[in-house]
Parts: sequence; C-alpha cells; structure tokens
Amino acid sequence: MSSIVIHGHTFKTKISSSEIQKAIGEVAKQINKDMKGKKPLFLAVLNGSFMFAADLMKKVNVECEISFVKVSSYEDKTSSGNVKQLIGLNEDIKGRTVVIVEDIVDTGNTIENVWEQLKSLGAAEIKIATLLFKPNAYTKTVPIEYAAIVIPNDFIVGYGLDYKGLGRNLEDIYVLDYENDKK
Ligand code: 5GP
Ligand code: MG
Repeated sequence: MSSIVIHGHTFKTKISSSEIQKAIGEVAKQINKDMKGKKPLFLAVLNGSFMFAADLMKKVNVECEISFVKVSSYEDKTSSGNVKQLIGLNEDIKGRTVVIVEDIVDTGNTIENVWEQLKSLGAAEIKIATLLFKPNAYTKTVPIEYAAIVIPNDFIVGYGLDYKGLGRNLEDIYVLDYENDKK
C-alpha cells in the first residue's frame, strides 16, 4: 500500500490499476454481448470519465460511436435548487441506443438528470456505464446497468477523479486515509 498527499490530505491506495483494468474488462464483455447490432452512441461525461472511457472503448468490439459531453451546474434563481445542463452534445440521438459513460455514481443526482435530458431528446434506449458506484449513497431509481466497481461511501481520487483539481492523473484509485489524515 502506498500513501500520497493531495492539498495536505493523506490518501492511500484502494484499487490497483490491474484491478481496474480487470473490472473494465468484465463490463466491456457484458456491453459487447448486449450492444451487438445496436450501433450505440457512447456519451462520456467529462472531466472525470476520460480515463475510464479510453480504456473501456479499447475493449468494446461492437460497431459504435463515442462522443463527449459536460454537465454544467448552476443555481437557478427562478426555481429552487441546482440545475444541471448537458453541454456539447452535437449528435442527433433520436431513436438511438445511448450508453452514458460516467466516472462515479454517488447520490445519482447527476446521472438522473443526464438520463432525463437524453430521454427528452428522444433516445430510444439509455444505459449507464460507470467505473464506480456507491449503492449506499444512491437515492434514485434509474438502473445502473454497468457498474465496473462497487464501493462504500468513501471519498476517492485517481484514475480520472480529482480532489479540488488534483489527482486525475493517478493510475490507481486512492481513498482518503481517515486515520492518518490530520486535517
Ligand atoms: P452524484 O450526482 O451521483 O451525487 O455525484 C456525481 C459526481 O460527484 C461525480 O461525477 C463526481 O464528480 C462527484 N463525486 C462523487 N463521489 C466522489 C468521490 O468519491 N470522489 C470524487 N473525486 N468525486 C466524487
Ligand atoms: Mg462524473
């Protein structure tokens, strides 16, 4: 096990790059089986999913397209709460099978929102592929079809995921080391 410090907080290795690759291989196998002949559009949600998307797509062997979107969050002054808007989608998704590629599903707020926007744009079928899934934090009903790795409610960084902008470049996944973290 190795330790790193990001913005003064200690993180320790949790999931090695070889475990990550193995888990992605399993998900790809499932996708290859389910998506045969559907010519799906993979939509990777940036920034966090960039590593997962790249490694997943190398293992997907069905005819498909990939594109990249962002979710911008802003406070809506006229209604209550936080509005999430999908930006950068240039493809016509009417009648298509779309696979959302996410880094992590936590409460599910983000994914539910993206799911609804894609539905209203006319997608015929929407599936979710996420590298990490926290089922104990999940509050939604949208099915998480392809979850590569299921984790408890810990805060993790690495392999695309950041802590205040840092750590996305790490090859392994790290977890905040609560015991050795002095704050
Ligand atoms: P949700 O909308 O499902 O609650 O959260 C999704 C977003 O929260 C993710 O796309 C990610 O940006 C962030 N997030 C949730 N859990 C973690 C975590 O453990 N580590 C990091 N780095 N980001 C997280
Ligand atoms: Mg994300």
